[in-house]
Parts: sequence; C-alpha cells; structure tokens
Amino acid sequence: MSYVEKVDPEIFNLIKEEEKRQQKNVELIASENFVSKAVLEAAGSVLTNKYAEGYPGRRYYGGCQVVDKVENLAIERARKIFDAEYVNVQPHSGSQANQAVYFAMVPPGGTILAMDLTHGGHLTHGSSVNLSGKYFNFIHYGVNRETETIDFDQVAELAEKYKPELIVAGASAYPRIIDFEKFRQIADDIGAYFMVDMAHIAGLVAAGFHPNPVPFADFVTTTTHKTLRGIRGGMIICKEEYGKAIDKAIFPGVQGGPLMHIIAAKAVTFKEAHSPEFKEYQKQVINNARVLADELKNYGFRLVSGGTDNHLMLLDLTNKGITGKDAESALDKVGITVNKNTIPFETKSPFVTSGIRIGTPAVTTRGMKEEEMKLIARYITETIDNIDNDDKLLEIREEVYQLTSSF
Ligand code: PLP
Repeated sequence: MSYVEKVDPEIFNLIKEEEKRQQKNVELIASENFVSKAVLEAAGSVLTNKYAEGYPGRRYYGGCQVVDKVENLAIERARKIFDAEYVNVQPHSGSQANQAVYFAMVPPGGTILAMDLTHGGHLTHGSSVNLSGKYFNFIHYGVNRETETIDFDQVAELAEKYKPELIVAGASAYPRIIDFEKFRQIADDIGAYFMVDMAHIAGLVAAGFHPNPVPFADFVTTTTHKTLRGIRGGMIICKEEYGKAIDKAIFPGVQGGPLMHIIAAKAVTFKEAHSPEFKEYQKQVINNARVLADELKNYGFRLVSGGTDNHLMLLDLTNKGITGKDAESALDKVGITVNKNTIPFETKSPFVTSGIRIGTPAVTTRGMKEEEMKLIARYITETIDNIDNDDKLLEIREEVYQLTSSF
C-alpha cells in the first residue's frame, strides 16, 4: 500500500483502521467474508484501465484481445462449477443481476412472485422502496407460521391466482434448504419462468452442500462475495436459449462498461472455489453454524424454524425482551458484528426489528472451528444478558479480542 500511503494518507489510514477492525472483531454478518490476497491483487490490477463494452469477440472498443481471454476464463470456470449452460459475469452486483433478469423477461408492470422481505427475501425481490417494486407488480409469499419454512401451499395458491410471468426463489435470511424442484413444478403448472437468487448459498452450492438450482431454474442470479468468498460482484447463469436476452439486458440494458479487474478477480474466485480446500471450508461453515445454533438454543435463544441447514441462523429475541437494534449495538460494543433483522410476521419496524441474523462464513475463513463457536455463543449470551452493564461488556470485549488475536 506504499503508493496510497504517499498519495493519500487519509485514505491509507482509514484502510488500515478498517483492516484492524476486521482483524479484532468476530465477524458474524452472514453475507460477509474475507477474500484471498490473490483475489485482492486481481481486483487491484491494471485491468481497471480497460473499456470493454460488449462481450468477448464482439466489443465496442479496440484493444480487447487480452480482456476477452480474461472474461472467457471467468465464464468457463463458472460454467464448470455450477454445471451451467450460459453465464454472464458482467453484473456489477447482485442487485443488477436481478434487475437484468426482470428487465429481460418481464414487461414493465408485469407480475412476479417472490419471497417477502420480512420472511427472508431481499429488497430486490419487489420491495416498494426498490426499483423492482416500483417497476413490476410483485406478489409475495412467505413462510408457514408453524414451521417457519417456505409455505408451498401459499406459493401454489398465489401462482394460480395471479399467474405471474416469473417466480423467484432465494433469500437473504432463510436458514433452511430450499426445494427448487417444488418451485419448478409450480412454475410449470402456470407456464411461468423460474429464477433462483442463490446469492447467499452460492458457495455451499459450488461445494455440493446445498442442491444446485441450475438444473431447475431458467435463470440463476448470484453475488460472488458471500459464501462464494470472492470479489464483490454479481453473475447470471441461464439456459442457453435466454443467453442473448440476458446479455442484452446487462449491456446495454442496465450497465455500461464491464469492470474487467473485477471480472479477473471473479475468475480467481472461481478457480479457488474449484478446489478440495474450498469443499472442506464449506463443510466447516455448515458444521460451525450447527454448533453455534445448538449452543445458542441451549442458552435459551429461540431460532426461527428451530435451527439451520446452511450458513446462517435467525435469532428471535422476543423472549429475551430486547430488540434486534439494541442487540446489534451491544454486540458491537464487545467486538461481535451482526446485523439486526426482521423475523417472519415481524411486529417492529425494519430499523428496530425483533431479531438478529448470524452467519459463519467469515469466522470459518479465519480458521475458527466448533470450539470457537461454543465460546462465541457464550459471549453473545453474556452480552445480551448484561446489556446495561458496561464493566461486564468491557470484560467480554477483552475475551473477544483475545480470541481473534489467535486467528
Ligand atoms: N440477492 C440476495 C439474496 C442478497 O442477499 C443480496 C445482498 O444482500 C443481493 C441479492 C444484492 O447483492 P448486492 O449487494 O451485490 O447488490
């Protein structure tokens, strides 16, 4: 970082400060991870200098011979990992990947059926404050009140009633395996397209620890920076027959020039994801989540749906008498980073919430295992139980810093 330090010491110091924060804290945000140095190097490379509007072999700029090879490598690697027919690696983010599928396949004002935000869905699945909700007619399904798992009777009922052009599966805060075959059946029954947003679980899918949506869905969107542990960005996988429409929707539809340095970093991400070490890592992510969930249950926390099958869990804090907002802020004080989250049938505002979302991808990358999960469960419990006791919180923070100093 010697050049940043010389040219812009203010930013250099902030980068160092953030690096320190990432090292000291226990990172439990389910959508975050730590990328490798190789991914960082590719993202910081001279490929950022190149304009390459268009696609490999058909660009609107000269001098694209090298970046064509980079993009083709990224595409080929992604195809192999997910057993995909067609891949577009240009989306700058998960949001833009979703936007492009809607834009390509659904007319303005058309109907889309997706998961409700408060039941685990994402803003880009039709929230009224998101472009998706403003430009399309979203109808939402949720989870069953008893089991807190996806209510397939409701999905089928709404599909039959509203005849959506597109059905979307996938979530930001859903701790269970998603049955893509059931969704496909419902989509087929009404002649709808089927899209899966696998942003959260892409790493688990790549390693074979969650069913792959690709054989079932017409479109699969993802981010590359969550469980997949790559550079921040998006990707779309689809059936060959929709490839042209998806390419057009990304460029010139919703984006301009692709970020070639980020596409190179995605290629490195995919190479890393195609290794035995990555498989071991994902297995540990799931084991860690199970242990953390069991420990928290033993400490009296209520987990939405009773536990987890994947990398995350949702804690309902109602029985603890505190809000998600207060829990997030108390945990921040002790160096444990989580995010407040709405729970199914939420009664509080999204700024307050009744729950917190906890995930294990980042702590697992640091090398933490089952024993550390037990410690973390204890720190979380003690923090929530001593939310107004600053001395105790300081004590816990010391223990947290001691833990992270060895990883
Ligand atoms: N889809 C899902 C399921 C997500 O969880 C997220 C991010 O949280 C996104 C899409 C959006 O990704 P991005 O933040 O890259 O726009």
